[in-house]
Amino acid sequence: MDHNTGDPLRDLAQSTHDFFVRFGVTPELASCIKNFEEEVKELIESAKIGTDKTHIAEEAADVMVTAIGVCFASGVDIEKIVEQVYAVVAKNDAKTHDTHVFADGKIRRRTPKN
Ligand SMILES: [Mg+2]
Repeated sequence: MDHNTGDPLRDLAQSTHDFFVRFGVTPELASCIKNFEEEVKELIESAKIGTDKTHIAEEAADVMVTAIGVCFASGVDIEKIVEQVYAVVAKNDAKTHDTHVFADGKIRRRTPKN
């Protein structure tokens, strides 16, 4: 199957799905979470070292693929993941200097939501 359609998120999700199917694996939540946690640690370690940008990106991709595994193990399908990625994009795009401010290392809402 072609996993290079120019849509990296769908390609990664489809590749992950096909990978599980190819090995006859039904994603199981506990092991998917364990794999995800391991990859998050590896990403943090590589970013703290900070010298090998390709390795940092590789670890970020590992985080993404294992996050997709957690979603599959939780019954979340590819289209729901894509839908929510675009929801985050829309939320981020809607944030402006009028609505948000950078404070304490994080971009935060200017006034608490009521
Ligand atoms: Mg890794």
